[in-house]
Amino acid sequence: MNSTVDFEFERDFELLAQNENHIEEIVENLKDNILRDIDKAGEIIDKLLSITSKNKMHMAGARAKYLSSIYFTEKMEYEKSIQYAKEAYEYFIKTDNTIALIEICNEIMLAHLMIEKYIDAIHWGNFTMEICEKNQEYKHSFMAGINLAFAYEKLGEYTEASEMYKRLESLESEAKQIHKLGLYINRAHNEASLNNTKEVERLLEKCYKIAEKEDHNWDLPEMIFIKGCIYLKRCQYYLAEEAFKRAIEESHRTGNLSFISDIYIQWGELYIKKYRYEEAKDKFFAAKQALSGRLSEGKLLKIYTGLAKAEKNQNNYRQSLEYFKLAQEFSDSLIQKNSHIYIAGMKIKQTERHTRFVKNQTREIKELAEIGKVVMTGISREDIVRTVTHELCKYLVADDLEVEFDENKEQLPLKRTMIHKSVMSERVLAGEKYLGMLRVKSSKEKAFGSSEYKKLRIIASYMGIAIENSKFIESARYAADYDYLTGLFTREKIMNIGQTACSEFLMSPGSRRLCIAMADIDHFKKINDSYGHSNGDAVIVESAKILKEKFGEKTFSSRYGGEEFLVVLPDLPLAEAVELTEKARQAIQDSYVSSEDKRQIRFTASFGVFEFTPDISNLDEGIRKVDSMLYRAKQNGRNRVDYYGNL
Ligand code: GH3
Ligand code: MG
Ligand code: MG
Repeated sequence: MNSTVDFEFERDFELLAQNENHIEEIVENLKDNILRDIDKAGEIIDKLLSITSKNKMHMAGARAKYLSSIYFTEKMEYEKSIQYAKEAYEYFIKTDNTIALIEICNEIMLAHLMIEKYIDAIHWGNFTMEICEKNQEYKHSFMAGINLAFAYEKLGEYTEASEMYKRLESLESEAKQIHKLGLYINRAHNEASLNNTKEVERLLEKCYKIAEKEDHNWDLPEMIFIKGCIYLKRCQYYLAEEAFKRAIEESHRTGNLSFISDIYIQWGELYIKKYRYEEAKDKFFAAKQALSGRLSEGKLLKIYTGLAKAEKNQNNYRQSLEYFKLAQEFSDSLIQKNSHIYIAGMKIKQTERHTRFVKNQTREIKELAEIGKVVMTGISREDIVRTVTHELCKYLVADDLEVEFDENKEQLPLKRTMIHKSVMSERVLAGEKYLGMLRVKSSKEKAFGSSEYKKLRIIASYMGIAIENSKFIESARYAADYDYLTGLFTREKIMNIGQTACSEFLMSPGSRRLCIAMADIDHFKKINDSYGHSNGDAVIVESAKILKEKFGEKTFSSRYGGEEFLVVLPDLPLAEAVELTEKARQAIQDSYVSSEDKRQIRFTASFGVFEFTPDISNLDEGIRKVDSMLYRAKQNGRNRVDYYGNL
């Protein structure tokens, strides 16, 4: 075992440990690396416990207890592990800290698994899974599921176990490599007890690959042990013996002593099969020794049964009977420890509490989904900021809230500032992109706890998506109304404008006037052919610019088609419309566009103008008329304005 491991935070430990937020860093780091140097980790955890208790850091203290619980599980001091875990659990369930709660429940489950209290393990496991699923914490769900499946297996609930394994398969992509390793090892145990030796080997193969890739030695003894069991099942005694020997060596080398007694038990079984009873007894005694006083009924049952078998085969019937009696006692106590009846009375209170907790969570999640729905209906940024403010004020139950959204650091105060004593803020992101800071203030002290922060966080994430969506909506709206090339109205938009103008005209034909003009660039195909398409585009853009300028603000110019334009001129008599059109025609004739190779592109356009009369029934009819005027202009030699009627 490598005893010179340095934990990343160690150099700054004293400094980090003074700050509650930084302790989380230490916790995260230790949690993942505890097995690299378990004894050193133990010392650090001790320091952490005393600092957090001295400084009354409750949250950090609970996290330190969580670490202690992991530490004692790995050290096989399960009762201590459970004791620490339960203290932390009390804190996390009170403060509704979901992830920490999941982790601690998982740890409690694991410790119960190790002391063979499988019903308790299942109870904690199911609770953990339930919180995970409610919160869509698939990684944690995977972790808990592995242990839960193992507990089912140990109780002989094989269908439950295999159903759990199936569920885990669908979560596998979410899992860390190290948790996958846990899954494969457990499944290998399961398959080994079902005598599917081929499948065991396949799973072990996967395990070795992961262990090697992750440089993770902790589980090696267990893997070698399983391999030994397979050899034993196949009566390859020599190979089995070698494997068990190596598994023991690896246990000491890695410091993972949790399987030593299991290994000795199997080794004893092996010697019984080989008629080497004295050696078998040695191994069973070694197994008992390895328990070092821990009460493990399941293992003691196996040890005394083994000893009894060995004595019987040596014809020591009296001694054998003594051992069988002991074995019987442990068997009874194991059954009792895991009986449903025993559990029912003890656990009912706790279960009620869990049910209440899950119910509360369900309500909260529904509430958050509701908020999400409302926020997402906002289609403009202002809309969204307004709904977010409204929703936050509604769900954070305080009458003195001030909500602001700082976009790109610009202050956008929504209310006059007040003297605030509590503030919480959350970044609003669209994917990775920073959009701004959402901040909630209250004049009360300690107005916000973790549940309020959770709501803020979720609202902020909805807000990010909603704002991003609103930008898409805005640009889609713009594209529907404005032509991308010229910035003039699109055909759809001008038809709307024209229809409105047309109905207004038709409703009061005596007092109102309405003209439309249509333009088409002359011999435009030739321009495209001689100068290329992109220079052709430049001609369209230039023509559009002139039209807009010459027709002026009281009219509406549009790009009607490729190089065709329709202009709506409300409240102008024909003479003035023709005059404006003539100016536009002249301006186009006088203008030019410089081609990319610096040539002057000159161009002209032909125009039709039409004034609506009361006998025209709709816009389309007007457009047909103006189109025929344009056609006439083309017929009459182009670069001219033709109109319908008398000036
Ligand atoms: P006419 O004087 O009779 O109008 O002759 P013309 O060559 O302009 O004939 P017409 O109006 O029928 O031809 C329009 C041409 O404009 C056809 C098409 O290739 C081209 N065109 C249409 N849209 C675009 C565009 O967005 N960009 C460019 N560069 N060319 C376009
Ligand atoms: Mg045309
Ligand atoms: Mg043309």
